[in-house]
Amino acid sequence: MATLHHYEIVVIGAGVGGICAALAAGRLRRRVLLIDCGKEAGGTGVHTSVSLVCKFRGTDGTVINNGIHRELFPQAYAVGRGLFGEEDDVPTYDEQELKAAYQKLLEREPYVTVWTDSEATEVFTEQRVNASGEKSRRILGVEVVKGKQLRIRVTGDQFLDATADGNLSAMAGADFQLGREQDGKMQTATVTFKMSGFRTSLLQNPNVRTWKGIHALRRELTGYYEQMKALGQTNNPRPSVLCFPYPDGQSLLFNSTAVTDVDPTNQESVDRGMAEGVRQAAELIEAVKRHPAFADATVDFIAPKLGIREGRRVVGEYMLTADDCLTARTFDDMVAACAYSLDIHDPLGGASKLTPIQEPGYYHIPYRSLIAKGWDNLLLSSRCISGSHEAHSSYRIMSGVSAIGEAAGTAAALALWLRKEDVREVSAARIRYVLQTAGQFVEGNVEKVTLG
Ligand SMILES: Cc1cc2nc3c(=O)[nH]c(=O)nc-3n(C[C@H](O)[C@H](O)[C@H](O)COP(=O)(O)OP(=O)(O)OC[C@H]3O[C@@H](n4cnc5c(N)ncnc54)[C@H](O)[C@@H]3O)c2cc1C
Repeated sequence: MATLHHYEIVVIGAGVGGICAALAAGRLRRRVLLIDCGKEAGGTGVHTSVSLVCKFRGTDGTVINNGIHRELFPQAYAVGRGLFGEEDDVPTYDEQELKAAYQKLLEREPYVTVWTDSEATEVFTEQRVNASGEKSRRILGVEVVKGKQLRIRVTGDQFLDATADGNLSAMAGADFQLGREQDGKMQTATVTFKMSGFRTSLLQNPNVRTWKGIHALRRELTGYYEQMKALGQTNNPRPSVLCFPYPDGQSLLFNSTAVTDVDPTNQESVDRGMAEGVRQAAELIEAVKRHPAFADATVDFIAPKLGIREGRRVVGEYMLTADDCLTARTFDDMVAACAYSLDIHDPLGGASKLTPIQEPGYYHIPYRSLIAKGWDNLLLSSRCISGSHEAHSSYRIMSGVSAIGEAAGTAAALALWLRKEDVREVSAARIRYVLQTAGQFVEGNVEKVTLG
């Protein structure tokens, strides 16, 4: 018999999207439960290790994410204008520092309860007919399995899907899309790894902290990798080596394996992908160690979790398109913004393709893309928001997802403050008012809200 708990806001998934949502809602004094099936909170940004703090400024340097993201990556805001010039330092982070920042912020928040090692396995819903005779659906609760054994029933007023792959929405029965339009294929997955102890004096450009230095290093290492490929010693389909410096310049994070055909909705496929990624990582380490500067380098870790770039994209009240992103489209119901290029890691394993956003270098993310279509209390709070395969390749980065999470958490808290059962009745102008009060970047008119 399951025990019963009630929280005002239930967030499933404690990656950057879920954590930012929980913090935003908790800071607005609503009781939040944040659940993750992993042993620790942090999601992809901690357990896959991804390294780069991607662009969060428009072309003129305007910061377009000044919210919780800034608390997570303060050093990236401190460096110049962050415009990725060749002489600039590469804005990266250390995943252990990010984990510590998450812990500190969550522990400091009395309205947020965190359950790890807890998996949402079932969703209870109801169908309703509103005053205008329209049908809509609601989540009543979720079944959570804690520590693989204890079954707990959690009811809530608002539910946030921060699972990255839209797992909560799919269990509830919401519509979703998977993969690109022509063949359903998704971006490649990657096992990352960290190496230290290389001798910078043996590199063409020893200052690997700068873009110029890291580009030179990648070219040098690609030479050794190409030799390995020519000898048929690796099946890794990536054409070149991709690595980033840790902030101290003493270690490197390699984001350079490429596993095709991983379907995150199928555990067997994920397990197979992990095994292939680890195999490719071992081959790549061998290639890197052929460079004299890396002869005595050590492998600090191979990431424990397969890095999955793409999963379900839940169908929302609006589906963001590639054209919306590339033409820097603005929306009346914007609640977040993203400045990162479209960045598609070729599903067939080739090079990744980066297409920048037109002037002013960022686009709006509309509130409707965060609302699962036809659902009253299901907000999307991770990379599973409503958008095309191409649009997703841009906003999936941590700056985009943190802004999405912060907006979704704010919207859920406002729905409670305003006593709205349907999140569609919370106006974007009010969400923007609260986000702006907290320091977040917003554009468009705002409508004042008094809480409490
Ligand atoms: C290899 C790789 C490299 C990348 N490089 C960069 C980079 O350099 N810079 C950048 O900004 N971004 C990068 N990204 C993208 C970015 O890291 C992710 O898109 C982003 O972190 C996703 O955040 P999220 O909150 O949507 O999901 P996640 O961080 O994946 O969190 C989802 C959480 O939901 C939990 N969960 C799922 N289902 C359930 C369930 N049923 N019950 C309970 N919990 C559940 C999972 O355990 C997980 O912790 C990279 C991604 C990859 C894979």
